[in-house]
Amino acid sequence: MQITGEMLIGRSAVRGSEKPLRAFNPSLGEDIAAPVFGSGTAENVAAACELARHAFDEFRNLPLTVRAEFLERIAAGITNLGDALIQRAQEESGLPKARLEGERGRTTGQLKLFAEVVRAGQWLAATLDSPLPERKPLPRSDLRMQKIAIGPVAVFGASNFPLAFSVAGGDTAAAFAAGCPVVVKAHSAHLGTSEMVGRVIQQAAKDLNLPEGVFSMIVGAGRTVGEALVAHPAIKAVGFTGSRAGGTSLMQVAARRPEPIPVYAEMSSINPVFLLPSAVAARGAAIAQGFVDSLVLGAGQFCTNPGLAIGVDGPELTKFIDAASAALSAKPAQTMLTSGIHAAYQQGEARLASTEGVSEIAHGQAASGPTQACAALFVTDAQTFLTQTELEDEVFGPASTIVRCKDEKELAAVAEHFVGQLTATIQMDRDDVPTAKKLVPILERKAGRILVNGFPTGVEVSHAMVHGGPFPATSDSRVTSVGTTSIERFLRPVCYQDFPAELLPEALSDANPLELWRRRDGQIVKA
Ligand code: NAP
Repeated sequence: MQITGEMLIGRSAVRGSEKPLRAFNPSLGEDIAAPVFGSGTAENVAAACELARHAFDEFRNLPLTVRAEFLERIAAGITNLGDALIQRAQEESGLPKARLEGERGRTTGQLKLFAEVVRAGQWLAATLDSPLPERKPLPRSDLRMQKIAIGPVAVFGASNFPLAFSVAGGDTAAAFAAGCPVVVKAHSAHLGTSEMVGRVIQQAAKDLNLPEGVFSMIVGAGRTVGEALVAHPAIKAVGFTGSRAGGTSLMQVAARRPEPIPVYAEMSSINPVFLLPSAVAARGAAIAQGFVDSLVLGAGQFCTNPGLAIGVDGPELTKFIDAASAALSAKPAQTMLTSGIHAAYQQGEARLASTEGVSEIAHGQAASGPTQACAALFVTDAQTFLTQTELEDEVFGPASTIVRCKDEKELAAVAEHFVGQLTATIQMDRDDVPTAKKLVPILERKAGRILVNGFPTGVEVSHAMVHGGPFPATSDSRVTSVGTTSIERFLRPVCYQDFPAELLPEALSDANPLELWRRRDGQIVKA
C-alpha cells in the first residue's frame, strides 16, 4: 500500500493544506523524507464531523451482523497489510518487530472480540418492566429500556501503541461496536502507520456500502485540529490516551462547549507495587527480577509501568534493593517513541535525581542512539515520599523509585496518600494475608485493577478487564478503556414508555427476535 500523506475524510483522500508534517524515525533520530503529510484545517475537521453526523442514524440502525462484519473486515485488512505495516510501524516507533507483531495480534483480536460482542447483543442491556394497570394508587406503564449509541466519537490515537490504541485500536473498536461513527485524530508519532490502517477501515466501509461518514482520519500537530474536533457539535464523546496535560486540556474544551460531552481520557499512573514482608523474605530476588523486567519492558513506555515499589525497611528489603539494582544495571538502553518523550524522560529522571531525600542507586547501560533511554532506579523513605508530592508524578519511561517504610503502618499511610492509579500490585505470601487485608480496601479506592503476585504491564483484552481508575489515571473512574465493557463509554440508555409493538426496537419486542437474555420484571431470562 502506498502512503500518500493524505487525510481520509469519508470516502475521500484529502491533502491537508496547513503546516507540512514529516514522520520521524526515532532510532536514527531523523525525519522520514517522504511522503510529507499535510495538516488539516478546521474546515477539514468540520467536513469529517458533518459526515459523521449524517452517517450516525443509518450506521447505528444497521443489522448487528453488518456491524460485526465491518469489525472483522478491518481485522482481516490489517492482517493482509503483512510485513509492510510492521516495517512502517517499526520505522516510526523504534519498537521491536516482535512487539509490533504481538500488538497487531492484539489489535485484530480485539476487533474480532468486539464483533462477537456486537452479535451477542448483551450490550443493549434490554430491560422490560411489565405494565401494572391495576396497581393502586397509580397504574404502572409498560417500560422498556435499551442502550443506544451515543453519537459520533472522536478518538485520539496513543503514541505508545501505534496499532492497539490507535486508528483501529480499542477506542475505535468499542465505538464502532456501539454503533458510533468515528473521527480519528492520528498521532503525529506514527503518521504513515495511521494512514495504512485508516485506509483499511475506509476500504472496509466502502466494501460494505456503509454510510460515508462512518470513519474519517484527520492529521495535525499541536492543538488546532484536536481542539476543533472536540469542540465540534456533531461529536458526542471523546476517547483519548496520552499525557495528563493533553487529556485535561481536552476535558476543558469539552466542558466549555454549549453542549458539554464526556471525555474518556487515560492519562497518568505510576502503578505502585507493595512488597509485603514475608514475600520479600521468601523470594525477594525473584520479585526484584520480575519488577525490573516489567519496568524496562518497551523502554518503560507503558501506562501500567511500575514506577514505584513500597516495602518495610530491614535487611530483607535491602537484599531486594540490591537484587533490583543488579538486574537493572544489566539492562541495555532502548529507543524511545519520540524525541519529545525522550526529552520528557530525561527531565523526569533528572528531577527525581535532584529531589532532596531521593538517591539514585542504579543505572542501566549507557545509551548509544539519539533517543535511547537508560533505566534508572531510585530509593527514598516514606516521609520524603509523603511530603514531596512531585514524586507521585508519572515519569514516562524505565525509571522507578523504591520507598522504604518504617513499618506496616507507614506502608498503609503511603497507600492512603496515592492519587488515582490504573493498577496497584501486592507481592505477598500466606503470612502477609493480615497486612494485605488492610491494604486491599485502600487500594480499591485508588486503582482500577489490583494484582497479587504479578506485575502490572500486560493488559489482557477480555470481559473482566478494567483499565481505568480515579483521576489522574483517567478522567472517569466508572469505565474501562480496555476490554469488552469499554463499549459502555459510547452508549446511553433510552426508555420506551407505552410503545405500540410496531414502534418498538427489535431488542425490546415481545417476540425477542434477537434471542437476547433480557431483564424481564427483574429476572434475567431469554424471553
Ligand atoms: P500527548 O502529548 O498528550 O498527545 C496525545 C494526542 O493528543 C496527540 O495526538 C496530540 O497531538 C494530542 N494532543 C495533546 N495535547 C493536546 C491539546 N492540548 N489539544 C489538542 N490535542 C492535543 O501524549 P503523547 O504524545 O502520547 O506522549 C507524551 C506524554 O504523554 C508522555 O511523555 C507521557 O508522559 C504521556 N503518556 C502517557 C500514557 C499513559 O497511558 N499514561 C500513554 C502515552 C503517553 P500530536 O499528534 O500533535 O502530538
